[in-house]
Amino acid sequence: MFKNILSQQKINKILSDQIKSGKIVHSYIFVGTPNSLKYLVIIEFAKILNCAINNNPKIYYEACEKCTSCKKFSKNIYPDLHFIDFKKQAKIQKENIEKQKILKIDTIRHMQKEMYIKAYEMKWKFFIIDPAEKMSILAMNSLLKVLEEPPKNTIIILLANHKEMILKTIVSRSQILFFQSSDCFLNFESNSEIFALNKTLSENKKSNIDKNVKNITNVSLLYKIINQKLSFSEILMISKNISNNSSALECIDIMINDAERNFKAYLNIISYILDLLNKARILLLKNINVQNVLDNLFFDLLNLK
Ligand SMILES: [Zn+2]
Repeated sequence: MFKNILSQQKINKILSDQIKSGKIVHSYIFVGTPNSLKYLVIIEFAKILNCAINNNPKIYYEACEKCTSCKKFSKNIYPDLHFIDFKKQAKIQKENIEKQKILKIDTIRHMQKEMYIKAYEMKWKFFIIDPAEKMSILAMNSLLKVLEEPPKNTIIILLANHKEMILKTIVSRSQILFFQSSDCFLNFESNSEIFALNKTLSENKKSNIDKNVKNITNVSLLYKIINQKLSFSEILMISKNISNNSSALECIDIMINDAERNFKAYLNIISYILDLLNKARILLLKNINVQNVLDNLFFDLLNLK
């Protein structure tokens, strides 16, 4: 199980054991960085729980990769994964995303309403609150009420860098999983979801990899990420390759240049995009773990719209 996620053995074991025993808890807090890895675990977890063929986890606990549900996951379609974040809040409030500094009680109430709408396709509904530590006190108290009586087949996952800023009463009702940064690898050999570029990358020699990474950068990686033309796994692969090729700084500079020249249509978010890029640039110059910086940057950009 979780064969696509090679690191994080402890987390894999905890979740695998819960799936096998049928003792799934209703609330998890994923603590640590980077978020990209947390997303991968969530997607794998949801895929296994919602697989229509291997639907008796006590006997089978791998996703079949063939049923309608699994095929949707392969196409990066996740109808019952709900992200409760600044992007969502901006949409509900009809405001700009830059205005969102805390997750408000109204957003949690909105989530609560959505929870009670019957799962239209899948067995398990997932609500991912990110960043959980940015919930207001009122929002946390509202969430606490949901946790006291969670709807059936609903899993709430709180993403946080630190758990100390989350209400103790929420923490005590949740399963805490600690993520370690830096060793985030996908087992691409066994991952059927890899897109064409990844295939090319694994088949070609390193010199060609350099070329491919440069090409995709020049074609406007920034545009592709912001417009959600790439999936989580694709972005991770690109981030990993750029890091391996030591071309991260060059890549960021190309993106800054690109944003300044070609993103006039994105007036409402351009300053935010440039801010993210410049912050990532500074972190790279400080020799912070390159892949983490890129992972976090790309996922922030992906969640902009
Ligand atoms: Zn399946």
